[in-house]
Amino acid sequence: MPKTPAVLLVNIGELVTLRSAVRGPRRGRDLSDLAIVKDAAVLCAGGKIVSAGTGKEAVRDRWVKKNRKNIIEIDCRGRVVLPGFVDSHTHPVFAGPRLVDFEKRILGATYEEIAQAGGGIRSSLEGVRKSSRSVLANKVRDTFFEMQKHGTTTLEAKSGYGLTLESELKSLEAIRAAAGQWPGTVISTFLGAHVVPAEFRGRSQEYVDHVCQSMIPAVAKRKLAQFVDVFCDRGAFSMEETRQVFESASQHELGVRAHVGQLSESRLQGILHFQPASLDHMDFVNDADLPALAQSKTIATLVPGANYFLGLGRYPDARRLIEAGVAVALATDFNPGSSPTLSMPMALSLACTHMKMSPAEAIAAATINGAWALGLAQRKGSVEAGKDADLSIFEATDHREIPYWFGVNRCVLTVVTGMCSGAIT
Ligand SMILES: [Zn+2]
Repeated sequence: MPKTPAVLLVNIGELVTLRSAVRGPRRGRDLSDLAIVKDAAVLCAGGKIVSAGTGKEAVRDRWVKKNRKNIIEIDCRGRVVLPGFVDSHTHPVFAGPRLVDFEKRILGATYEEIAQAGGGIRSSLEGVRKSSRSVLANKVRDTFFEMQKHGTTTLEAKSGYGLTLESELKSLEAIRAAAGQWPGTVISTFLGAHVVPAEFRGRSQEYVDHVCQSMIPAVAKRKLAQFVDVFCDRGAFSMEETRQVFESASQHELGVRAHVGQLSESRLQGILHFQPASLDHMDFVNDADLPALAQSKTIATLVPGANYFLGLGRYPDARRLIEAGVAVALATDFNPGSSPTLSMPMALSLACTHMKMSPAEAIAAATINGAWALGLAQRKGSVEAGKDADLSIFEATDHREIPYWFGVNRCVLTVVTGMCSGAIT
């Protein structure tokens, strides 16, 4: 591996460091503490952040003075610099968009009506099953680079549009191949329990047995995923089936997470002892589950892109969760059916306008708490010495502009493990 040259970002108008004495995910009032440094600089070397502070401190640094000629210097010209976004919930392995579903929904059909008529998740299966691994890998790689253009430097990627042993392994191999061609960090999740595929219709338990007894062992053996996910909801899998999948995942030393409460409320007491890394969507949560959730390290990952794209008037009640002390993250839920956006700034904008999160809360939820949701908080999600040098630079002089300007991409540069991508003009 060639040594990554040192990079010094100078003249940063606002450096959102998110450094904190808090150990653990950010909750309550701590969620809005961005620890901004004005007129700042960041020094990166060997792929890590060496120092982050005021510009004056950086230029006085003896090592910087001595090595200035060998340091790549980036003049940020007063712009905002953030830790790279951590998009902790995406479904990038699919063959094409679902345009028929899109039009049906415009004409009034609901998500569940479309699924019952053979659309929805099941309609993406054929494309993935027929596609070669390399075709899928190329699409996934292109998606990762597109996400990076919007400021994302770490992401989670799920399988779940194959739902046969062969096509799920192929999907996870495509993620692994794409991750190898992208400089950012990728965490893989096996989502065999996405829906019951047509060939198992009416035999949900048999499919769950297949997931637990064949698919999870094969995924674990090949080390193709760090997490196992389940779509636990009306029309997908029950809480009891979710427990079975979690049990199998735990036996194979894989972490667990679940889609919960998107369409209907499920009580969480039966799964929290598995210590899921995250429970995602959470549009419907019972009040009685909030204290246990707030006590746990489980992150509630909110994905308002899905509510927006499905045309729902209702969004997850972020304020209720935050005020109860639940740690919340934000993610895109990038997928062809319900959230075809790979833009974290768009997710932040929706969080502010529809979920009444403050810009500061949205930024923390999309960085440090996303890192917690992926088990990466020791390395990602804040700008602190010793962490990975993952940064995003925005065409803005105030961090509140990031969710403010919606529908346009104002990320001008990313630094990923100390390497720059993009150019400041
Ligand atoms: Zn999802």
